[in-house]
Amino acid sequence: MTAAPFSKPELLAPAGDLLRAKTAILYGADAVYLGGKKYSLRSRAGNFSMADIREACAFAHDHGSHIHVTVNEIPHAHDLEGIEEYLHELQECGVTAIIAASPAIMRLAKETTSLQVHCSTQMSITNSAAAKLLHTLTGCDRIVPGRECSLSDIRTIVKETGLEIEVFIHGGMCVNYSGRCILSNQMTLRDANRGGCAQSCRWHYRLYENDMERSREDALFTMGSRDLCAASLLYELMEAGAASFKIEGRMKTEFYVASIVRAYRSLIDDLFENHGVLSEEALMEHERELLLAQNRETCKGNYEGIGGSESIIYHEHTDADVNHVFLGTVVGTFENGFILETRNPFSVGDVMEIMEPAQPTRRFVITEMEDSETGPIEKSRVPMRHIRIQSDCHPAIGSLVRKGIL
Ligand code: SF4
Repeated sequence: MTAAPFSKPELLAPAGDLLRAKTAILYGADAVYLGGKKYSLRSRAGNFSMADIREACAFAHDHGSHIHVTVNEIPHAHDLEGIEEYLHELQECGVTAIIAASPAIMRLAKETTSLQVHCSTQMSITNSAAAKLLHTLTGCDRIVPGRECSLSDIRTIVKETGLEIEVFIHGGMCVNYSGRCILSNQMTLRDANRGGCAQSCRWHYRLYENDMERSREDALFTMGSRDLCAASLLYELMEAGAASFKIEGRMKTEFYVASIVRAYRSLIDDLFENHGVLSEEALMEHERELLLAQNRETCKGNYEGIGGSESIIYHEHTDADVNHVFLGTVVGTFENGFILETRNPFSVGDVMEIMEPAQPTRRFVITEMEDSETGPIEKSRVPMRHIRIQSDCHPAIGSLVRKGIL
């Protein structure tokens, strides 16, 4: 089979803490992006101390992966205090790239460090001229265009600039232009563009006009966007020349990160190796993994044109549900099975699915299990217990286990 006329894009995953960074790397991320304690959006994502960033970089390098750090707030003058020292510390930790939303920070990083500089989606770059101008002014190495771009816009920007282009493929979307929304600022005095977004677009509202309620009595509504899922457009984005596929979600759980990274790792590899042509069976398996990994209703964002009403949540209340139940982490093995550190309840007769890095999903029905302290049990109800499960699957230590269906 001839090689594809383009390189396989990097899979770039989010991480809110060290555990999630390591999980993303083990489950197949080529690079992980995270926020430090300063200069970053998503201030509620936990965020990394310098020691954590250093450890994440060491782990990433040991596994052939990279760490990108978000320095993507839109800074006012006093916010820039100490920025040069901070960039030098990041470089010294082994960070590969920063993701910035201020031309001043981009240029400073290029002039004083060897860090790669990626222009954040917060800058709303939506055309080649703007991308070229920013590159000329700052020397930035990569552009993350505004999520308002269509597939055709992406194709044109890659072709006309020759720059590295990173695109979002999955996760939460802003209903307003990213980097230009002040809904949160006005409603909570928390600056969305300096790490404080209260996600006000996802709150539940009533509509009034001249003191008269216009919304249906029982119908609170939201203005939030559905999550992006570009899985069906992935090969076209590869052909368009995107250099990096980014998953959003620095505030998501370890289980979500593992599930979504694993699903996209497998889909990207399969599409690339097979020139975008997959068997019906393979497509169904990828669709299943993606469906189980995602935890909100999805849409294709703006890739096929401006996202219309089908991209908005309105009256749906689907935020809290996850499509699959995380049962626990494999912490040991024995001759006929493995030891699971539990998270959610399960019983004898339930189907378990093993999610092991770089392995297909394996399923089995639980026939026997025992609590490491109290002996045989029919049902496990308590989190953080060590349960011995009979199975011939022999998963690696660290594998995550979810509830499955046969
Ligand atoms: S309020 Fe909504 S649209 Fe505005 S920045 Fe926050 S998440 Fe984005």
